Amino acid sequence: MIRFDEVSVRYGEEEAPALGPLDLTVPEGELCLVVGPSGVGKSTLLNAVSGLVPHFTGGTLRGRVTVAGRDTREHRPRDLADVVGTVGQDPLAHFVTDTVEDELAYGMESLGLPRDTMRRRVEETLDLLGLAGLRDRPIATLSGGQQQRVAIGSVLTAHPRVLVLDEPTSALDPAAAEEVLAVLQRLVHDLGTTVLMAEHRLERVVQYADRIVLLPGPGRAAVPGEPAAVMAR
Ligand code: ADP
Ligand code: ADP
Repeated sequence: MIRFDEVSVRYGEEEAPALGPLDLTVPEGELCLVVGPSGVGKSTLLNAVSGLVPHFTGGTLRGRVTVAGRDTREHRPRDLADVVGTVGQDPLAHFVTDTVEDELAYGMESLGLPRDTMRRRVEETLDLLGLAGLRDRPIATLSGGQQQRVAIGSVLTAHPRVLVLDEPTSALDPAAAEEVLAVLQRLVHDLGTTVLMAEHRLERVVQYADRIVLLPGPGRAAVPGEPAAVMAR
């Protein structure tokens, strides 16, 4: 579902790439963790999948990234809303509307779906994320865990095949983190969505992982051609 062929990303004129060169395959319907020390390129890897690299963050991408068979370089992220959904670390940075229901609807705007399909998908997503009781609430009045679920819901209404999350539980207390992780597990198991998630608190998430991509730390990053260790559980 996700494939990297000899992918490397450089920012500016730096000699060493911020990521790669890296080959990677993540099959459909798996939850894959990306782990490694700070600065090792986890966010860059996720951004290469979501298309933020090379379209928005200024990195230069070599090699080829395909998601559901589509080359991310050839499509802008908003044109891939039904292929890859992206949720950042800070849910507040994500929101563009006021209420929960409007936010979920917004994620489908670029798809040109019929009105009744959009309505059905909002209902289905409210239920999936346990947000039905909060539909009319201003997002600003919700807890951190609720906000993170709204951020996830707003990309899920497009029914993306792949969901990319950058440390989605880092600002959450353990109970709220559990709720978010339980939702991700349901997505993978019940709907066959592929989830790619960066996380530094391995102990929180490792039990949910089908696959772990470990980016090498500073001691190894300088070795040319060194592959990332990819472990399947
Ligand atoms: P991680 O997520 O593992 O902390 P990042 O992917 O954020 O790692 O960063 C990898 C390296 O690339 C770091 O040295 C970081 O400073 C650099 N970097 C990340 N994003 C940018 C950017 N938009 N412009 C320039 N340098 C960047
Ligand atoms: P439509 O595709 O017309 O919007 P539905 O919203 O009823 O119709 O969803 C159709 C199918 O999509 C259902 O079988 C449902 O299980 C599945 N589905 C629901 N949520 C998601 C999701 N987030 N990603 C992928 N498929 C989903």
